[in-house]
Amino acid sequence: MSDCIFCQIAAGELPSHTVYEDETVFAFLDANPLVEGHTLVIPRAHYGTTTELPGDVGAALGRAVTQLAPAVEAAVDADASTIGINNGPAAGQEIEHLHAHIVPRTRTDGGGAVHSIVGQPTAADDDQLATVAESIAAALST
Ligand code: 5GP
Ligand code: ZN
Repeated sequence: MSDCIFCQIAAGELPSHTVYEDETVFAFLDANPLVEGHTLVIPRAHYGTTTELPGDVGAALGRAVTQLAPAVEAAVDADASTIGINNGPAAGQEIEHLHAHIVPRTRTDGGGAVHSIVGQPTAADDDQLATVAESIAAALST
């Protein structure tokens, strides 16, 4: 998409602090980092969310993220990292080009776990868990 910032970054038409690239994937530093080393990993081609992502591109993206995470952590002497995708606007996605965040973490950074992303965590008994699991499995086969 010609008006997409991340397409333009991946094509080298806009500058970025690039940390990795191959024919399918491009990784660069977030311009507004949550912490030093905050890295974004994107498919070169434009996909909005994982729903649109072909499996082979998803595999390449996942491989790059898993290889990059320890390098990001080592570069900024972090203890760990949080890896996440805001997968659609309702989940907080602002740039409409799929991207995985690698956020280096330390025990003293004041942040939380993935469990803190919703305001009111739900409770579920075993029957509810079973019903939802069936629904997900059914949706997979449609
Ligand atoms: P989202 O909320 O869509 O998951 O995150 C988008 C991320 O892209 C934000 O963390 C933001 O700081 C970053 N970002 C937005 N515009 C640019 C840009 O032009 N260059 C870079 N390197 N990062 C950007
Ligand atoms: Zn794009």
